[in-house]
Amino acid sequence: GQGLMAGKRGLILGVANNRSIAWGIAKACADQGAELALTYQGDAFKKRVEPLAAELGAHIVGHCDVTDAASVDAVFDNVSKLWGKLDFVVHAIAFSDKEELDGRYVETTRANFLRTMDISVYSFTDIAKRAEALMTDGGSLLTLTYYGAEKVMPHYNVMGVAKAALEASVRYLAVDLGGKNIRVNAISAGPIKTLAASGIGDFRYILRWNEYNSPLKRTVTPEEVGDSGLYFLSDLSRGVTGEIHHVDSGYHVVGMKAVDAPDI
Ligand code: NAD
Repeated sequence: GQGLMAGKRGLILGVANNRSIAWGIAKACADQGAELALTYQGDAFKKRVEPLAAELGAHIVGHCDVTDAASVDAVFDNVSKLWGKLDFVVHAIAFSDKEELDGRYVETTRANFLRTMDISVYSFTDIAKRAEALMTDGGSLLTLTYYGAEKVMPHYNVMGVAKAALEASVRYLAVDLGGKNIRVNAISAGPIKTLAASGIGDFRYILRWNEYNSPLKRTVTPEEVGDSGLYFLSDLSRGVTGEIHHVDSGYHVVGMKAVDAPDI
């Protein structure tokens, strides 16, 4: 094969539909010659993911719900049987109760706090440990985060606290796995209208606000995040680990945001 990813085999977790950030990353990797394995979360998503996998000639390695260890065991067994090794993993998974992605953070319940942290943070560490065993020639792990980890964003609430923990996990995992030449990085993506984002209160307003205030005067697409993901998953970034890289039209560098946007 040809391309930046020729000869590389990767597991991509988190494709729900053709608007998913994970799908943008999958397309960028497949375009550059990677061989891919995808999962789906339950039968509802199976029907969506199957034709997408076919489009890229990707394998489907089963149902994956990160709260169900048996399903994750089965996925890694399938990958091991299929390839015997792994070069990269994309973790594009997050969840929080929609009811709590609105209003005040202080109202967060213990049950939703724990569930949000389990699905959105612990799962990355769990998957890194499983991937380590298959990354015998080194590898690259990539997760997705958001600016709400660094600064308080309206409605992001417990998910912001979870993303802060996820970003800290990236740094700890980078140290633990670096000796095996396994790199661990995150992309902090600007807001994109996906299924997960539709749970966040006032999301349209957040998109408009970002368009108006970012240096590039627009929001980003899953394809743009995919192209930046390609850098982290390929050998182009072989000297980079523990990094949180913003793909957000530059929004995070602007200190003084305009309040007089004409149409928001
Ligand atoms: P999406 O809805 O397309 O993807 C979210 C994925 O998480 C889905 O595939 C879903 O199946 C999976 N998931 C949820 N709970 C799971 C569980 N228990 N087990 C296994 N999988 C589970 O939305 P997206 O916006 O592409 O989200 C991907 C990642 O990008 C998330 O981590 C999200 O926080 C992050 N992100 C999104 C934005 C945005 O504005 N859309 C911005 C920055 C970061």
